[in-house]
Amino acid sequence: MVILDRIRQFVERVAPLPICEACLAGHLDGLSEQEVHLRVSELAVERGFDRARAPCGLCGNERLVVEKAR
Ligand SMILES: [Zn+2]
Repeated sequence: MVILDRIRQFVERVAPLPICEACLAGHLDGLSEQEVHLRVSELAVERGFDRARAPCGLCGNERLVVEKAR
């Protein structure tokens, strides 16, 4: 499965909670936070996901998060 699909699936799994890039990297084995950052940028452009600065639904830290667009 390509990295973009793994990220998309995880974001959909935690929806409607927003999730930060650090939590994504922590839950997707083998991905660096930097790589997650790049892929989330693609996801937000191509596939109907929103990015915002908000509290993460998992760790609670206010960060750049991604969530499934409503
Ligand atoms: Zn988080």
